[in-house]
Amino acid sequence: MPELPEVETIVGDLAPLLTGARIIRVQVWDPRLVRFPGAEDFNRRLTGRIIRTMTRRGKYVVVELDQGLTWLVHLRMTGRLLTRLEPGERHQRAQFTLDNGVNLSYCDLRRFGDMWAFWPGEEEHLGGFQTLGPEPLGEEYNPDWLLAAFAGRKAAVKALLLNQSIVAGLGNIYADEALFLAGIHPARSGCSLTAEECGTLAAAVKTVIAGAIAGRGTTFRDYRSGLGTVGNYQQRLQVYGRAGEPCFSCGETLERMRIGGRTSVFCPRCQLQVRQAGEI
Ligand SMILES: [Zn+2]
Repeated sequence: MPELPEVETIVGDLAPLLTGARIIRVQVWDPRLVRFPGAEDFNRRLTGRIIRTMTRRGKYVVVELDQGLTWLVHLRMTGRLLTRLEPGERHQRAQFTLDNGVNLSYCDLRRFGDMWAFWPGEEEHLGGFQTLGPEPLGEEYNPDWLLAAFAGRKAAVKALLLNQSIVAGLGNIYADEALFLAGIHPARSGCSLTAEECGTLAAAVKTVIAGAIAGRGTTFRDYRSGLGTVGNYQQRLQVYGRAGEPCFSCGETLERMRIGGRTSVFCPRCQLQVRQAGEI
């Protein structure tokens, strides 16, 4: 599933190709793709609009069009935005033809992706986009924010990191990586973290996300950047996808645990579940 660094890479690649162009034709072959308004209205709203900016917020692609219309895309599990279709592509769900010769294709194997086209005042139809928490690389996301967000929360810290209203853009890969870097066990309850640990974790999230953006994201199965290339951060993953293999730091065998319906991988020695007596 594309997380913040992958979406950032896709947007960075596509924005220069799309900005300033007019959408002259919209074809949606899978009406389930459109969450708001209906598929027919969606086509009508986007057709003829000029793309002003393309940015990212959390895991969403945000396209600002002329006249104040906003086009929102969430790739979910296997969605891809491409300017060039691979030979034999069988999962194209929509195509957007621009007046500069670019054809933007939306492909999605599992069909969980979502799109919205909304005018100001229609934000109530946007679900989770409305309640996104701060960006992990922004100043608003800091130790104090994390400490306040975790206060009184008995849920596992791993589950809280995946909560998009606490921090926007994290998914399973980078939450596991950040917890390993911070030396915090994924099953610890959020409210058990000290102010110092919140500081360590906030910094670890920033380090992991910045590193993954620099590496153009992690390539797993369906991820491709907007130009069809793959990321290389998978070479730097410490724990994600490595259960049963030795910890790069201490040699202990990495373990797997089900938390909040998702698989977490962690090092039982580097990420202690309970603080040891005498440890400060
Ligand atoms: Zn270890």
